[in-house]
Amino acid sequence: MQYKRILLKLSGEALMGNRQYGIDPKRLAEYAQEIKSVVDKGIELAIVIGGGNIFRGVAGASRGMDRVQGDHMGMLATVINGLALQSALEDADIQTRLQSAIKINEVAEPFIRRKAIRHLEKGRVVIFGGGTGNPYFTTDSAAVLRAIEIKADVILKGTRVDGIYTSDPEKDKEATKFDFITFEDVIKKGLKVMDTTAFTLSQENELPIIVFDMNKPGNLLKVVAGERVGTKVNL
Ligand code: UDP
Repeated sequence: MQYKRILLKLSGEALMGNRQYGIDPKRLAEYAQEIKSVVDKGIELAIVIGGGNIFRGVAGASRGMDRVQGDHMGMLATVINGLALQSALEDADIQTRLQSAIKINEVAEPFIRRKAIRHLEKGRVVIFGGGTGNPYFTTDSAAVLRAIEIKADVILKGTRVDGIYTSDPEKDKEATKFDFITFEDVIKKGLKVMDTTAFTLSQENELPIIVFDMNKPGNLLKVVAGERVGTKVNL
C-alpha cells in the first residue's frame, strides 16, 4: 500500500445515487464495502462528508435567506450525512466515530484532533461532520484542513468522474484526462478541482490530492495501493 493514512472526501451529492435529493441506502452500502476493503488492509481512514444533497448555504442565499443561516443549515446537513454513513459502516462491521465541528454532543463527539488521531491508530474510521464549523467555507476546505491536522499522506476526492480533464468530459467529447498535474498548472489552466480556498490550502501545505471515480467498484483500494487511477495533483 502506498499510503498509510488517508482522508477521503465524499460530496453529499455522491450519496444521492440516482435520486434527486437525500440519501440512497444502496449507494451508502456500496461505499461501505469500498471503505471496508481499505480498512481491512490496515489503512487509517478519515472521511469528510459534504451536505449538498440536503442543503447548500448559497442556494438558500440565492432565494433571499441570510447566508450565515443557510450555511448553518448546510453544516447540519453534513452531520445528517455523517450519521447515515456511520450507520452504513457499522452495518459492514467497521468501527467508526463521528466527530462534529459544531457541538452536538448527544449525537456526535466534538472535533478533538488528538482524539481523532487516537481513533485512527486504533483502526476506527473517523467521520468529520459539520465542515469547518464556520460559514462561508465548504466541505472541500474542511477536508484539506482535517487532512493537514491529522497528518494524512494524501487527500482522496471521490467523485463520479475518473479524474481531472482538460474540460468537462460530461459536456466535451474531446476532453482528455491528466494522470498527473501540478497545483500550478491546475491554476494556470483554470481547471476546477476544489474551490480556491481549499485548493491553495492544500498547495501551501504540500498535500497531494487524487481525484478519482468513487462509483467504480475496487477503485478506492487501487488508489490507496498506488495504482494509476484518477488524477494526482502534486507540487
Ligand atoms: N458549510 C459551511 N462551512 C463549512 C462547510 C460547509 O458553511 O465549513 C455549509 C455550506 O452552506 C455548504 C453546505 O454546508 O453549502 C454543504 O457543504 P458542501 O457544499 O461543501 O457539500 P458538498 O458539495 O460536498 O456536498
